[in-house]
Formats: sequence, C-alpha cells, structure tokens
Amino acid sequence: MKKIAILGSTGSIGTQTLEVVENQGDMEVTALAAGNNIRLLEEQIRKFMPKLVCVWNEEKAKELAVSVGDLPVRVVSGMEGLIEVATEPSADIVVTAVVGMIGIRPTIAAMEAGKDIALANKETLVTAGHIIMPLAKKQGVNILPVDSEHSAIFQCLNGENKKTIHKVLLTASGGPFRGKTREELKSVQVEDALKHPNWSMGRKITIDSSTMVNKGLEVMEAKWLFDVSMDQVEVVVQPKSIIHSMVEFEDGAVMAQLGTPDMKLPIQYALYYPERRFLPGERLDFWSLKEIAFEKPDMVNFPGLSLAYQAGRRGGTLPTVFNAANERAVEKFLNREISYLSITDMIEGAMNGHTVKENPTVEEILEAENAAYEYIESRW
Ligand code: NDP
Repeated sequence: MKKIAILGSTGSIGTQTLEVVENQGDMEVTALAAGNNIRLLEEQIRKFMPKLVCVWNEEKAKELAVSVGDLPVRVVSGMEGLIEVATEPSADIVVTAVVGMIGIRPTIAAMEAGKDIALANKETLVTAGHIIMPLAKKQGVNILPVDSEHSAIFQCLNGENKKTIHKVLLTASGGPFRGKTREELKSVQVEDALKHPNWSMGRKITIDSSTMVNKGLEVMEAKWLFDVSMDQVEVVVQPKSIIHSMVEFEDGAVMAQLGTPDMKLPIQYALYYPERRFLPGERLDFWSLKEIAFEKPDMVNFPGLSLAYQAGRRGGTLPTVFNAANERAVEKFLNREISYLSITDMIEGAMNGHTVKENPTVEEILEAENAAYEYIESRW
C-alpha cells in the first residue's frame, strides 16, 4: 500500500488530495500538516488516522493535541514539525500543498529523505529550481507536477524525448478581468478578484490568477520542470480552461491534454503515476462545447506576466523577489490595505530595487525574500 504525507492538508489542494485518497481507498495517510485550521485537521485525523500531524501555530498545536488525546497521533509544530511531517519515515510520496516559500525547506528535506514529491507548491521551483531539480536527480526521486498545466505538459511528454520539445504552450484562462484596461481595473475589489471563471482554488492563487502573476509563476515552474528556456514557454489564452496545456515538438506536432477543469485529475495522476485510474466526474462534451477560442495574453494591462518573464530570464534571486513581493502585496490587497493595481506596482518596485545574486543558496533565497518584504514595508 502506497503511503502519503500531505503538507497543507486543510487547503484547496490538500482537501482534494484527501478526496482522491478516499475515493481510491488503497493509500495510507501517514502524516498531515496545516497552518491554523485545527477543526478541519481534527476531522481529517479521525478519518485518515495519520501517525503524525503538524500545526504551524504552536498554541493551536497544543489545543489540537488535547482534543485528539484519545488517538495514537503525535502533534508537532513550527518549521521543525513541518520538516518532520515531510520526512515521516514510512511515507513514499509527499504532497507539497502549502502556500508560499515556506514550502522550500520541507520539500528539500523530503527529497533528501528519498521521497517522491507531488508538487503543488510552485513557489519552491520558482525560487529554488536550481537547487531542487539537481537534487531530485541526485536523490533519484520524482517531482510529479500537480498544477493542472504542468500535469498536462507532463502527460503530453509521456514516452517522448524531452530534448525534442520545441515549445511549451502554457494555457491560461485570462482570469475574471480578461479584456479589461488598467483604467477599468482601478476599481477592482477583493470580492471581484476572488471570482475565478473556471477553477475553485485557494484565495492567494485566485488573486494571482486574476493578475496573471500565477501564469508568470507557472512559466518559471515549467522552465525548471521541463528543462526549457523562458523563451520556449509561450502563454496561450484559452478562456474556457479546456486545454490544460500543450507541447510543440521539433517536427511541428502539437500534443495537448484536455479535460473538464477538475484538480482531482492532476492530483490523482501525480499520486498514481504512471498508472491511470478511473476518476468519477464530468466528462468533456465536444458537442456542447462546439469551439475553443484562443487569444494572445495581454501583457500591457496585466504586467504581472511580463515581470515574471523578466524575473525568469534574469534568474538568480530575482524570481524570489518577484514572488515575495507578490505574496506580501496580495496579503495587503486581501486585507484591503492597497488597491488592486498596486499589486503589480509593488512587484515592479521591489524588482527594480534589487541587486541580483546568482545561484543563491537556500539562506540567500530567504534573505532575498526578507529584503523584498522590507522594501515593501518601507514604501507602502
Ligand atoms: P490554500 O490556501 O487553499 O491552502 C493552503 C494550505 O497550506 C492550508 O492547508 C494551510 O493551512 C496550509 N498552510 C499555510 N501556511 C502553513 C504553514 N506555515 N505550515 C503548514 N501549513 C500551512 O492553498 P491552495 O491549496 O490553493 O494552494 C496550495 C499550493 O498549491 C500553492 O502553492 C498554489 O499556488 C498551488 N496550486 C494550487 C492550485 C489550486 O487549484 N488550488 C492549483 C495549482 C497549484 P490552514 O488552512 O490550516 O491555515
């Protein structure tokens, strides 16, 4: 029986991962980690009976330990606890579904412990891809993409030689504000930005999708996962999110993976790779779909994407600054402290004020993250 640990089990990806585990019924959950939501975590513990759980918040961890005192589960907390969950000895695969750069250290620790990684936490590759990818090779572990676009590309590459990739065609829905001008975007409120047309996701990634920053992060993620240059990754807007991404090969053949928008498909594919299993749910109906439309991305009104290309091409610590500035800016927008358009202004300002360090270590990545936070606090 395959054994699984989940970092971020109470979030959108985490809960859907547990749904897949429950539907399939032949995986054992050995460890779970969450940030604060001990109510849901307790339900998960009672249902899946892991041996180890981590709650980031120490006080909440203590509270949870009392309420699950009747069960054989150990409750830990903080970064040490998160790393303990990531390296839980019996797990074969670790799902990294925490939000943000907090995912870097536990992902590295899990790989060093020989675990395969089902990677949802894109921030890890964006900021530390130059550390993660060689480490995966050295440790002989798989990095299995959970992001639907990267899973699509991964599926298109099944049995293919990666060296024959000409282009990766990363699809984007364009988000809820596709077609709008900067003038029109000035008045966007939190509630508007939290309405994604096709996907139901966590709050931060939903905002990132609306600014196209998420697509920018995905371009950088694709660069590392598939060993291509930033210029080989082209974003194609396809508003209905039916084509999850495509690969164009040297001979001009284009392979695509299509399906209804359901994150359980890429999650299940990553968990059981290379096996494909039945997944209940809606199927694509081409007759009601009728057509699939395509557009070029609008990099002028949505500068998040062009800033990401700039960060990814330059490399070093610049992608970290792009990501950290965005994390902080989105947090401020969600707290209604800044306007919608300030999100990308903040990213641009932080990037312009940064002196890039090449080939950063994890410590240097975290320093660049803090420097970006400090820059933002000093200006906004
Ligand atoms: P959510 O906000 O829904 O969930 C985040 C999870 O991480 C929660 O379980 C949260 O716990 C936990 N968490 C946050 N901080 C900590 C911490 N310090 N220690 C331990 N756990 C923590 O996010 P999503 O599921 O939407 O996204 C997760 C990752 O997957 C992101 O990197 C995102 O970009 C990526 N992704 C998401 C997709 C989606 O469809 N949602 C698609 C593709 C990629 P708690 O709630 O208890 O605080």
